[in-house]
This record gives sequence, structure tokens and C-alpha cells, in this order.
Amino acid sequence: MNTVIVIGGGASGILAALTAAENPNNRVLLLERQQRIGRKLLATGNGRCNLTNTGAAPENYHGEDPDFVRPTLSAFGPEDALRYFHRLGLLTAEEYGGRVYPLSNSANSVLDVLRLALDRAGVEQRCAAPVKSLRREKRGFAVEIEGEPLQGDAVILACGGAAGAKLGGVMDGYQLAKSLGHKRTGLYPALVQLVTEPEYPRALKGVRAESALTLTRRGFALAKSRGELQFTDNGVSGPAVFDLSRAAATGGEGLTLHIRLLPLEEAEILSLLRERQAGYPELPASEILTGMLHNRLGRMLGKYAGLSANTPLRELTEAELGALARACVDFPLPVKGTEGFDHAQVTAGGLRTADFDPRTLESRLVPGLFACGELLDVDGDCGGYNLQWAWASGRLAGRLGT
Ligand SMILES: Cc1cc2nc3c(=O)[nH]c(=O)nc-3n(C[C@H](O)[C@H](O)[C@H](O)COP(=O)(O)OP(=O)(O)OC[C@H]3O[C@@H](n4cnc5c(N)ncnc54)[C@H](O)[C@@H]3O)c2cc1C
Repeated sequence: MNTVIVIGGGASGILAALTAAENPNNRVLLLERQQRIGRKLLATGNGRCNLTNTGAAPENYHGEDPDFVRPTLSAFGPEDALRYFHRLGLLTAEEYGGRVYPLSNSANSVLDVLRLALDRAGVEQRCAAPVKSLRREKRGFAVEIEGEPLQGDAVILACGGAAGAKLGGVMDGYQLAKSLGHKRTGLYPALVQLVTEPEYPRALKGVRAESALTLTRRGFALAKSRGELQFTDNGVSGPAVFDLSRAAATGGEGLTLHIRLLPLEEAEILSLLRERQAGYPELPASEILTGMLHNRLGRMLGKYAGLSANTPLRELTEAELGALARACVDFPLPVKGTEGFDHAQVTAGGLRTADFDPRTLESRLVPGLFACGELLDVDGDCGGYNLQWAWASGRLAGRLGT
């Protein structure tokens, strides 16, 4: 009998443990630092758990070696993940953009079927059991939890990353791997809100808008995205912002977010504004965008473009209409940074993938040691891609190279 120790009871660790337990020669021990397994999982997708994306492909993942994910994803792609979860008894529904959620709309359902499967597979679970140290021995590994030495023939590191600190994101995995000679890249918060000059976002707190975004550094475009944007107390959030947040976290100083709030050409908007002026000459300037944008957004753009709210439309000059049309296609917000690891959904960067075999996820430095999930230098886009990576890499690591 081989003892397999999985360190970390999150998405990737649970799949690794279930997979290792499919081999009757393995005794599988799942060690979790927190009081319960899968705590972060329950918070995913705003409590709904966007568990995969039917379009997940290597292009959706980032890291020093973007090709590293290929073998893992081709061994266990989104269709395989869905088939796997359906077999565990989970019903799912696909939504806009290929995002898949449990039909119950509750992340609990995902964790519940995994928990049932762990029990059925005979995986021994130890919660409130933070692993303190990990050592290679002549045969296998010595794993130390509070006051108790454990022995394993193989170890799977599934400790997650530094993101979502309030939900258990910690540095432990990097440190345990380092103690065995592994190195990591720089770490950055990704899929996170951007902190901007607060004046306009604060006034718009809670407003959501479909937008096209461009992040620039000193005039050069670093990244583009499209989709929902949400204004917050001190910046901007929402899926379109998350998609740019990796570039913002790593982009250095001098960043500006350019927000396009209307999907029309500037000249078309200008002629709509002229029509509005001709049709409603006595209307105050604060109403000029009524019906075209969220009211608060329209008023904010008028203010930004320098229009005085009470001026009747007939008094607005061509230059003022032009400035407003321009603001509708390019409203710039200087970026001060990101909200950091506490609020980030994922860690960009992690254990250097060059030190792991992409076909097995086994360490090239320490035979018998495997790693999976966010701990590795792999991060995905917003939309179910990160959990897809966690499931797929957990599944592969759990095969223990067989
Ligand atoms: C708020 C939020 C919402 C998200 N929503 C989505 C979403 O909808 N879709 C999506 O695809 N992704 C989402 N993500 C990202 C996704 O949750 C993670 O990428 C995924 O959980 C990573 O899985 P993992 O197993 O690598 O790490 P985790 O799920 O973080 O699990 C790691 C586990 O290891 C444990 N651990 C750490 N150190 C030790 C130690 N020393 N000893 C024992 N145990 C230890 C931790 O307590 C934790 O339980 C979200 C993240 C957050 C924070």
C-alpha cells in the first residue's frame, strides 16, 4: 500500500485526492489548514461557483510558459470536467460566454458532491491540520502537522496561491516547495478591482455599464477588454476590469484606463447630440444623454466634459457637444494600482513550471512530489477558467505519473 499525502483541501487538492484514491493500492490522506475543506470554493462566482468554461483553451491561461497547460487541458478539458461532475451527481447549466454553474445556483452543491465522493472513495480527511514542514527522506517524505509526523510515499502540493487572503490564500505552498529546492516567479494579484482616481467612480458607486476598455501606459495600449464594468468607492470592478487587471498589476507606473461607454462612432454620437439639442432646446444640459446611458453616468460625463448642468441645450456650443461626444468614446481614468491579494480572485505567478513535467505535474527536482492548481505559475481569465485549471491539474497530479 502506498500512502499519498495531498496538502490542501481546495478545488485542485480534492480532485487530486479523488483521483489518487481510484487506485486501490493507494491510501490517500487529505490535509487541510482550515476548519473545513473547500472554503474558497464556496465563495466562487459570488456564491454560485462558475465551475468551468466550455471554451477553455490554452489561450485563456498565462504564465512564464503559456504552453505548460496544454497537456493538462487536453487530458481533462471542460467537457471531461462536466462529465466528471455529472457522474458525481451535479446538474449544471451553461450561461453567457460558456460559463457553467450548478443548476442549483449554489456553490454548496459543487462542494457537497465532492464531499460525498471523498467519503465514498475512503479518502482520509484531516482539517485544521496545517502542514508545517515537508522533507524528502530516503524513502518517501516526512510531512509534519502540529505535533504529528506523517510519512508519505508521494506528496501532492495543492496549497493554492496568495489570492483571496480572507478565504485562506496563504504563502505556505511556495514555502513548502522552496524547502525542497523549488523556485517561484514574482506574485501579482489578478482578477481584481482597479484603484483609480476616486472622484468620478465614487459618485457612480454601484452603477454598471457595458463598456470597451483599453489600458494604456504612457499612451501605449497594454491590454483591451469588453463587457460589464462596475464603479466602486475607489475605482472600477466587474468582468471587463478583471480581464485587464493582470496587465495593470504588472504594468508599472503611468497607467490609464480608457473607458468607451457607447458602442457608436464619435461622429454618430455628435449628430445624436445635435438632434437632441434641436428637439429639446430648453432641456437642461444634465439631461442631454437621457435614454442613451444610465442617468448618473450621463450626468457624470456632462460634468467631465465641462458642461454646466443647468444650461439649456440651445446654449451649448459645438465645442461642448464635441467634448461630450468624445467623452462617450474615451473617458480616461488614471490607475493608481489594484486592490491587492485580499480582494484578488487569483494569483498571477507561482512555482516555476520549468521545474515540473507538464505531462505528469511531477517535480523534475524531487521525484514523487507533484503540484497542482493556483500554486503553479498558471492563471486563467475571468469566467470559470481558474477552476477548470484546478480540476484538470488536480486530476493529472492525482494520477501520480501513471
Ligand atoms: C472570491 C473568489 C471568487 C472566485 N470565483 C471563481 C469562479 O467563479 N470561477 C473560477 O474558475 N475561479 C474562481 N476563483 C478562483 C478559484 O477559486 C481558484 O483559482 C481555485 O480555488 C484554486 O484552487 P486551488 O486548489 O489551487 O487552491 P484553493 O482552492 O485556494 O485551495 C488551497 C487549499 O490549501 C489549503 N492550505 C494552504 N496551505 C496549507 C497548509 N500548509 N497545510 C494544509 N492546507 C493548506 C488552503 O486552506 C486551501 O483550502 C475565485 C476566487 C476567489 C477568491
